[in-house]
Amino acid sequence: MKTRIVQLLTITVCVGMLSGMSCKKDTNSNTSTTNAIVPDVFKKFATAVVISSDGSFITLKSNGVPDHKSCYFATTDSRYEAYNGSNPAFSKNPNSIGTKSFVFKIPANPAVDATHQPTPLGPIGIAVNGVAIYNQYAGPNQPLTNEINSFDQNNGHPDPTATYHYHVEPLYITLNKTKSALIGFLLDGFPVYGPSENGKTLVSADLDTYHGHTGVTADYPNGIYHYHITADAPYINGAGFYGTKGSVTQ
Ligand SMILES: [Zn+2]
Ligand SMILES: [Zn+2]
Repeated sequence: MKTRIVQLLTITVCVGMLSGMSCKKDTNSNTSTTNAIVPDVFKKFATAVVISSDGSFITLKSNGVPDHKSCYFATTDSRYEAYNGSNPAFSKNPNSIGTKSFVFKIPANPAVDATHQPTPLGPIGIAVNGVAIYNQYAGPNQPLTNEINSFDQNNGHPDPTATYHYHVEPLYITLNKTKSALIGFLLDGFPVYGPSENGKTLVSADLDTYHGHTGVTADYPNGIYHYHITADAPYINGAGFYGTKGSVTQ
């Protein structure tokens, strides 16, 4: 009988190997360098975002396409919706939404960086729906003043490389997940939350120069540094990354 059980186990292991699965005995082990446990907070991402961890970095792969309607999809696309937002000065930009191959690598154990690197133009983080987060500038140190008028009804727009992105509160996310929800992560691995906390709507003056503060969140009961989105500039990030940033390719 014992021999029989061993044979069955052997067969199971071999099937696992054939299908490319790991044959580690302890699937909860966190010692593997290629298959570490992804923290539960990342379950808040849309299933379209493929997430893994090597223990040092969380890797998030996304096509960057929003999971909501936009006036920047082709009019023949079922995801197209004419602008119905609240900005009377809305003016569509000439760009359209393209499919990207984002690979974000963010620290699994984010840590403060004393040099606080400035955020670059282009992706500085990823929202829970896989859309890129951009900083508060339209170009090198150029304010968003004019860009704001091309934000669609969900507060995003595509750039000339067809990358759809948010510079400000992603309205589809805060409408569906609440104003205090996890919005995403910046490249330094620190989370971004909506504008509301403990029933209070935060403004930039409530936050530090990087646009965050340290405290308990729903996902981090022991407390963590986190950014907040506010309605006033600089909206998501202030004077650079709080922590050591990871990387992004597309
Ligand atoms: Zn933009
Ligand atoms: Zn907070």
